Amino acid sequence: MSDAKKKPESIKTPLLDELTTGQWPSFVSDLKNLSHTKPQVGQLLGQLEQSYEDRWNYWQGTVLNVDGYGGGVIARYSELSERFPDIAQFHTVRIIPPPGWVYSTKSLRQLCDIWEKHGAGIMQLHGMTGDILLLGTDNVTTFDAAEELMEAGWDLGGSGGALRTPACCVGDAYCESSCFDTMGITKYLTDRFISQLHRPEFPYKYKFKVSGCANDCACSIQRSDMPIIGTWKGPMQIDQKEVGKFIKEHGADYVVNNVITRCPTQAITLKGSKEIKVDNDNCVRCMHCINVMHKALRPGKQRGATILVGGKRTLKIGDTMSSMIVPFMPLETEEDWEKLGDLVEKIWEFWGENGMEHERVGEFIERVGLATFLEGIGLKPLPEMVIHPRTNPYIKFEELAPGRMGGEPHKRPSVVDKEIETFEKAE
Ligand code: SF4
Repeated sequence: MSDAKKKPESIKTPLLDELTTGQWPSFVSDLKNLSHTKPQVGQLLGQLEQSYEDRWNYWQGTVLNVDGYGGGVIARYSELSERFPDIAQFHTVRIIPPPGWVYSTKSLRQLCDIWEKHGAGIMQLHGMTGDILLLGTDNVTTFDAAEELMEAGWDLGGSGGALRTPACCVGDAYCESSCFDTMGITKYLTDRFISQLHRPEFPYKYKFKVSGCANDCACSIQRSDMPIIGTWKGPMQIDQKEVGKFIKEHGADYVVNNVITRCPTQAITLKGSKEIKVDNDNCVRCMHCINVMHKALRPGKQRGATILVGGKRTLKIGDTMSSMIVPFMPLETEEDWEKLGDLVEKIWEFWGENGMEHERVGEFIERVGLATFLEGIGLKPLPEMVIHPRTNPYIKFEELAPGRMGGEPHKRPSVVDKEIETFEKAE
């Protein structure tokens, strides 16, 4: 270590120290502990303190590629390298995690060992993309670390104008409300599109996030370009015995105040004092009643997913939060998964050819219009694509020919039937 280098204990961090005084564990305390064995972590805290003081970010970003990969390493160079030479290069390596973030203790130990050997020992589980982030390598140790990680069966994640590492909620593995195998589809998308993940070829980044139901535990609408969200067709499953028990235990007032009046489409009602009735035509599958009465109510048996495109907050044009392009897609078999993959390829082809540099797919849709986008990817416009159809006076529901949506005709909502009946009687 040169004379110019400062020992970790000689770096004062009064601003950061304030973060250790609250009641919650602080990353500052953790990093201070780590700095006893990894001196570069002390210097990292020193630079962060300086950033807090000056309100300025002293990192510069650039590209560093492992052989055969066009992304996966976020290269960081310090602008204060004279003062903090041990963090002159302080790169982050992105690693694809297991779907649903289900680790064995053995695999976690393996990651920790590799990172203690080659990096600064700092791991972030998980970054915004869903990747495992391993921090603190230089221009040499990055390659050593990547090689050892790959030999152990791990692979680099995405960065730049590429497919980013797909992420999902834990789905069927733990959750009875999940409407499809979220982890299976995430693995399928990762394997099928591994080339697009490792070699950037898009106008900008593209993210999948997969949630098994409308609770959207993967936060897919806010965090991805293509949210895939579980839903069901047909009637919700109701166990009236469990409904009766729930009402007895919590009281009818509780059910009225916390379930019936909270339904966004007023599709759920009490039937007598022990039963519940759901108007399935008007239920928008929001999951609220199921969350509250999860033993009594369950998603229907015909399950699949709603496919949306162009989500994410916040893009350059604001929060787009995505447009729904397929109301219901079964995702049970490998063939179903392949159909989803084929749709993805059509989107990439159209966006790849017509998108501008640094234009996310949501911004692209906003620029060219949803109608042009649908035509470009070969999908027909549907009434379900209209935001707030119930409050839009230009939308009217009609029965469609069978086969338009997975072989079943659309039904007119029963409220419309009732209104027509009342109108006809008045006539
Ligand atoms: Fe209403 Fe949502 Fe329950 Fe459907 S799932 S009945 S929309 S609360």
